[in-house]
Amino acid sequence: MSDADPDLVLRSTRVVTPEGMRAATVAVSTADGTISAVLPYDTAVPPGARLEDFGDDVLLPGLVDTHVHVNDPGRTEWEGFASATRAAAAGGVTTLVDMPLNSVPPTTTVQALEIKRAVARAAAHVDIAFWGGAVPGNLRDLRPLHDAGVLGFKCFLLHSGVDEFPQLAPAELDAALGEIAGFGGLLIVHAEDPQLIDRAPSPSGPRYADFLASRPREAENRAIAGLIELARKHAARVHILHLSSAEALPLIAAARNEGIEITVETCPHFLTLTAEEVPDGATEFKCCPPIREAANQDALWQGLADGTIDCVVSDHSPCTADLKVGDFGQAWGGISSLQLGLPAVWTEARLRGRTLPDLARWMSTAPAALAGLAHKGAIEPGCDADFAVLAPEETFTVDPAALHHRNQVTAYAGKTLHGVVRSTWLRGRKIADHGTPTNPTEPTTPHGRLLERQHHT
Ligand SMILES: [Zn+2]
Repeated sequence: MSDADPDLVLRSTRVVTPEGMRAATVAVSTADGTISAVLPYDTAVPPGARLEDFGDDVLLPGLVDTHVHVNDPGRTEWEGFASATRAAAAGGVTTLVDMPLNSVPPTTTVQALEIKRAVARAAAHVDIAFWGGAVPGNLRDLRPLHDAGVLGFKCFLLHSGVDEFPQLAPAELDAALGEIAGFGGLLIVHAEDPQLIDRAPSPSGPRYADFLASRPREAENRAIAGLIELARKHAARVHILHLSSAEALPLIAAARNEGIEITVETCPHFLTLTAEEVPDGATEFKCCPPIREAANQDALWQGLADGTIDCVVSDHSPCTADLKVGDFGQAWGGISSLQLGLPAVWTEARLRGRTLPDLARWMSTAPAALAGLAHKGAIEPGCDADFAVLAPEETFTVDPAALHHRNQVTAYAGKTLHGVVRSTWLRGRKIADHGTPTNPTEPTTPHGRLLERQHHT
């Protein structure tokens, strides 16, 4: 139980708790922003407490999106903390973790982290934490970044898309992982093998099939096999970002059976869009690794069902509209879905017989665990009072103009999705109502906080 008395009571016939979905009443202390108790549905409202009755709308734990490229400062015209966190709030995401690249500076030193925090602090409509970056030459910065509170370190094995965040060569990867394992840190990896990508056909031209051929599954499979070997060597924790190739799932499952600490995420676009439906020239669908064929998508859903894949997070990676055009060789690779991840995944999940508790596990509980944020990701006493209120049977058509992303280019334009986010709550306060952030105007101080890696004792 929380120390402060509950003064807010949330009630729904469908509350998603770690034990499943049931009618319940959730008592919240707005003074400390935490859940005091999860009680039977018909519990009397304590005197003086405010009741919010959501009827049959579903009370989910607020989403934790551990893969967001905010790009601020430095490429704020692509996305900034204010626009990203407003989009997050509108989409039911209450915590996001910023990727270390595409901003300038990239988050590869403590000094750069402090610059990013200063920018984020004033604009945080949701809670924000940071990944650091492992790049050539910053081995000595890793421990200080860890101590300064980053959740882990991202690296690339091939060109990242931006020159100020270079990839690690094999010997540098080996050294970085050894260093990170030495202080119990986590390495998160864009896993595509550079040699196999180099050897694949060029991606230039308007045909999606050519782009797909330029990023073969084998490149992901081989990179993941190499990482498993290194994780074994260093007894290190590794996380595979944005898994697209389902062929790598047996490797990952076998490594885990062997006791290797490896986790995996996939993304809404891999679970809901298919190569077969991408029109030629439609560069809004370009991302790396790429959206693959329907049969591969089926196998990714199987990986979620059997628990091999832990998390579903957005890899929200926007840019300005002018950089998203041209052919598949030139266009920026990245799909924006911070505000749409929940309905996009739910739309497909429900067709495949998956449940809202599954969704909460993949998009909230498991990412919170990956990030080490013990007070996030569940509706249970002691956790932060972060919620997404969802009307899962309701549909809407994606109108790019309704997105709070700084740039509205989206692969989901015109799609009809199931699941309308009615409201979003952060530490007991409503931060978005019917798709609109509730305190959008300056100088109102937004309610989000900057989070640091929690120290385990
Ligand atoms: Zn990314």
